[in-house]
Amino acid sequence: MNSESIREYATELLGRKNLSEDACELRFSFPAGFSFTPGQFVRFESHGLKRDYSITTAPNDKGIELCVRDTGTGHFSSVLASAEIGTEFRFSGPHGYFVYRPSTRPVVFVATGTGVAPFVSMTRSGISGYIFLHGVKHTPDLYYENLFRNAARIYVPCVSRSSDDAESDLFQGKVTDYLGTVLERRPYDFYLCGKREMIRDVTFLVDDYFPGARIYTEVFY
Ligand SMILES: Cc1cc2nc3c(=O)[nH]c(=O)nc-3n(C[C@H](O)[C@H](O)[C@H](O)COP(=O)(O)OP(=O)(O)OC[C@H]3O[C@@H](n4cnc5c(N)ncnc54)[C@H](O)[C@@H]3O)c2cc1C
Repeated sequence: MNSESIREYATELLGRKNLSEDACELRFSFPAGFSFTPGQFVRFESHGLKRDYSITTAPNDKGIELCVRDTGTGHFSSVLASAEIGTEFRFSGPHGYFVYRPSTRPVVFVATGTGVAPFVSMTRSGISGYIFLHGVKHTPDLYYENLFRNAARIYVPCVSRSSDDAESDLFQGKVTDYLGTVLERRPYDFYLCGKREMIRDVTFLVDDYFPGARIYTEVFY
């Protein structure tokens, strides 16, 4: 995880699977000599632009997968989302320190949107038994739901826009609503990934309601 091991690699797009209307999972070849720790990200470069993407696969997978949302207003995510299979890309990595740190405190993973990505890698690497909160606007954005339902001790899909799915266990509201009103108040290790505003709001809330907790963060956007 130190900067000495960061290098540049060439990789080839091998496959694409839709996760929702505007998000997809992209599979790339695993370059020789590359290694990473679950939770880390790679920095892709194309047309002079650089963008970061968390790896969703486990280190022993033969490929590298990313979960990419085509933002519609940006450049890079559309390039990735529409690239032909076989397209070559360059990336540098591994980057980042958002990795799982075992401790005696219970663990709460909190993600918004594609912020699930590092938790997918951690889960595929065998980490389980955590509380998982996924904040999305609409139910189709609950990427990797089955993976998390199987691995988490408690899985809480937090859907902020109204849903007709009255029979399901959806929490209607934001992750901050759940943390502020439902989660038992005790010290946890919180891992937060996704939108800047969510990370700011949850950090304030943890300071107020969960004294003694630790917070690890990864801001996507
Ligand atoms: C450490 C790190 C890891 C990241 N990992 C991922 C990842 O695994 N998957 C992923 O899709 N993105 C990830 N991102 C965001 C990614 O780097 C790009 O910013 C994103 O793909 C948009 O790039 P763009 O050039 O298309 O648009 P930009 O012009 O960079 O952004 C356009 C708009 O989209 C918003 N935006 C950026 N990313 C997202 C997103 N993921 N969901 C919703 N809105 C967004 C921006 O705030 C901006 O308003 C990560 C960012 C960081 C810093």
